[in-house]
Amino acid sequence: MNTYNIAALAGDGIGPEVMREAVKVLRATEKRFGFKLVITDAPVGWAGIDFAKKALPDITLDICKRSDSILFGSVGLPDRDPTIPKEERPERAALLRLRKEFGLFANLRPVKLPKVLAHACPLARERQGEGIDILVVRELTGGMYFGQPKHTEDLGGGQQRAIDTMVYTTPEIERIAHVAFKAAQLRRKKLTSIDKANVLENGILWREVVTRVGKQYPEVQLDHMFVDNGAMQLVLKPTQFDVMLCENMFGDILSDEAAALGGSLGMLPSASLGATNGSRTFGFYEPAGGTAPDIAGKDLANPIAQILSAALMLRHSFGLNEAAAAIESAVEHAIESGLRTGDIFSPNEPNVRRVGTRVMGDAIAAVV
Ligand code: NAD
Repeated sequence: MNTYNIAALAGDGIGPEVMREAVKVLRATEKRFGFKLVITDAPVGWAGIDFAKKALPDITLDICKRSDSILFGSVGLPDRDPTIPKEERPERAALLRLRKEFGLFANLRPVKLPKVLAHACPLARERQGEGIDILVVRELTGGMYFGQPKHTEDLGGGQQRAIDTMVYTTPEIERIAHVAFKAAQLRRKKLTSIDKANVLENGILWREVVTRVGKQYPEVQLDHMFVDNGAMQLVLKPTQFDVMLCENMFGDILSDEAAALGGSLGMLPSASLGATNGSRTFGFYEPAGGTAPDIAGKDLANPIAQILSAALMLRHSFGLNEAAAAIESAVEHAIESGLRTGDIFSPNEPNVRRVGTRVMGDAIAAVV
């Protein structure tokens, strides 16, 4: 029987509540599909500081290193964060540290707005078609955020000059392009590569390399789009997109724009992928939202983002596509059957029932 080791880092706020539901759903897939998941809990964030005086305790890092992937909740508490130095705060000391430690270069942010949740989307209904379903693939370790030189220099006379540098090499573009084409193969086989090839040298290289990599994926339809047009098309006609491939900064901006179309932070999962070893890819899976202290501990959080993050883990780290699809269709089923946590509930919607975190998780696990 295939065995997969998962480090489960629930973190703070709603983290433990939504993680509990994700684990419940994973256990249901284990039973149905006949693989074994060894899930090891470890403290992180304020839970780590309370346990071992560190946002990322050594034992937690050790468990992560011995695992095939990390399922992460969220960290940080706005009332406690300011009480310690910046570099010790959970998001910096745990989250950023883990991303760096595991060389996570590819960020996947799927945004799916089912037709029945049309009311939760800021776009007019006629722009939503049969529902929005986009995957943004963002390069995470290159481009403008990391390129050198990067500094602010004094020009004298009270004037300064700030310099950031956009740098990409062929291998960096190739590896993220492969991730995007592979993801498109598992979806509707359409890839829109975003660049600024009309102005930037980086854009020209990006377009050339993506086009070349695309020859290895003849079944995927490849288009190129300038980033400014991409931003506009996301709100004009989001249904035209399947997979959007972006460099780091463009992906940062467009993935948030796309996320706004999804209706609620509580519905949005994400995956950050590192190197592939044989059939397994090390990955870090987390909901797009934070610790939501305003609703923590009240059975109000939507567990779907965490549950869909677990589905992404099964697909992208372990290649368990059928089990991942079973989770995703169970989530759709729960929504279609009228279950709504507070964040996606509207009193104007007929035949729906407002439920808590636990009931939503139970319903999804039962369908799996
Ligand atoms: P947040 O995402 O926690 O909350 C923003 C709003 O979205 C809140 O109203 C919250 O109730 C709602 N929300 C978020 N997730 C939800 C869910 N699953 N179900 C229902 N509603 C949900 O952002 P914030 O308030 O800016 O940050 C709170 C804390 O989380 C801060 O300490 C911040 O630093 C931290 N944070 C952590 C991460 C992470 O760990 N990756 C990400 C973002 C924020």
